[in-house]
Amino acid sequence: MKYFKLSNYKDYSIFFWIILVSIIGITITTIYKTNKEDEAQKIKGTLDNIYLKKITKEITNNLEPRYSSLDYVSRSGDTYQSIVDSLNIIKEEKKILLESILKEKSLKILRTNQKFIFKFDNMTKFKIVEFKIETDKKNEIIFTSSNAKNSFTSKKIKKNFKKKLVYKETSIIDSLYNSALNLKISPNIIIEFARLYGFQVDFQRDIWKDDSFQIIYEEYLNDKNQIVDTGEIIFANLNLQNNDLQLYKYEYEKNKVDYFDENGKSIKKTLMKTPINGARLSSSYGKRKHPILGYTKMHTGTDFAAPTGTPIMASGDGKVMKAGWCGGGGKCVKIKHNKTYQTVYAHMSKFGRGIKKGVRVKQGQIIGYVGSTGMSTGPHLHYEVIENGRKINSQKLRLPSGKILKGEDRKKFEVSKIKIDVLKSNLIIKNN
Ligand SMILES: [Zn+2]
Repeated sequence: MKYFKLSNYKDYSIFFWIILVSIIGITITTIYKTNKEDEAQKIKGTLDNIYLKKITKEITNNLEPRYSSLDYVSRSGDTYQSIVDSLNIIKEEKKILLESILKEKSLKILRTNQKFIFKFDNMTKFKIVEFKIETDKKNEIIFTSSNAKNSFTSKKIKKNFKKKLVYKETSIIDSLYNSALNLKISPNIIIEFARLYGFQVDFQRDIWKDDSFQIIYEEYLNDKNQIVDTGEIIFANLNLQNNDLQLYKYEYEKNKVDYFDENGKSIKKTLMKTPINGARLSSSYGKRKHPILGYTKMHTGTDFAAPTGTPIMASGDGKVMKAGWCGGGGKCVKIKHNKTYQTVYAHMSKFGRGIKKGVRVKQGQIIGYVGSTGMSTGPHLHYEVIENGRKINSQKLRLPSGKILKGEDRKKFEVSKIKIDVLKSNLIIKNN
C-alpha cells in the first residue's frame, strides 16, 4: 500500500532527490579520493580547498570509528590462510599476520570452534594492533604489533577457567527458545541447539506443546565461579510427540567432530529445512493470494517471519552464484550446492561478511540478514529450493543424510556413546 501513496508526492519531491543525489555524489567522490592517499597527492589541486578537506575528514571519521574489533569462530573447512584473507587489510599485512601465526607451534592444527579476536586501528596503513587466538578454552595466544608494524610478538596466556558439564531438561511450554532461556541456558547454546536440529526439525510445525528436550553442554567458570563462556554441546535429545531425536558429539577423526544419532548416522543433511533460527513459518509453499499484488499466484518458496537483522544461514555447502538485487526479491543470495540443488534467500537487509558471487560457503555460515527489501510487506526470509531447475517445497524435502559410521568406527562410537550415557545418568543424579 505504501508504494502507491508515495507516487502522489513524486512531483514535489523530485527536486529534493536531485539535490540529495548530487550531495551524495560529491561526498562519495571526495571520500574516495582521501582514502587513496597517493592518488590524492596527484590531484591535489582539486582538493586544496581547506573547508572541503575538513568536511570530508569529519565524514570519514564519522563513517569509521578509529578502533574496531572483530570476533571470528573457526568452522570446518577453514584454514589460517582463508581466515586472514577474509580480513579487510592490505596484502602485506596479511602476509605478516599469516607468518606470525604459522611460526607458533601450539597453533599447528586449526580446529573448529577456535575463537579469534582481531583489533584494528582504522587510521593506519597496517591496521591490526593486536589479535588473539584461543588454543583451547583455557589458553590463548596474544599477538601484539611491533612499533615498526612489520612483525608481531606473541605471548601465551593462561585463563584460569574451570570446565563444568551441565545437564538441563524441560518440557516446552511456549517456544523452545523461551523454555531454554527460563532454564538459564546461554543464547549461544540455544542457537547451536537449533542449528543442530535445523536439518530435521521445522521449528514452527514440528514442535507441539509438552514436547521436551534434554541437553548436556560445557560451561566455563572463572575463579569466582561465574560463567564466562560456554563450550560445546555433548549430548541432546529432542522429544517430539514421544519420538526421541538424540544426538551425540563424537570425534570421528583426530580434530574432526560431528554429531551422530544413536545409530551412528550423522545428523547433517545436504540441506537444512530451516536456514534461520527462532523464526516463525508465515507462509508455506503453494497457491496463495499475493499480499502486495492482490491476485492468486503460486508461492514458490517458504516464508519465515523474523525480526530485521536475524542471521540467515547457508542451508548447505556450496558456491554463491548471486549476491545482489533480484527485483521483487530485493537483496537476495543464490547458492548452488551440487548438480541437483540450488537455494535462494530473498528480501535481505544486508549480506553476510564476504558474501559475493563466486565465494564458497559452508553449511550454517551466515550469508545475510533478514530484511524487507524488494516486494515485501514486512521483515521475513523467502526461502526457495530448486531441484534440477524446478522450484520445490523445501519443507517436504527428504534428503539423504551424510556420514554413517561403520565397522571399527562404529565400535568406537558405541563406546563413546555409552560414556556419554553414563555421564548423563551421573549428572541427573547430581541434579536431584
Ligand atoms: Zn515468499
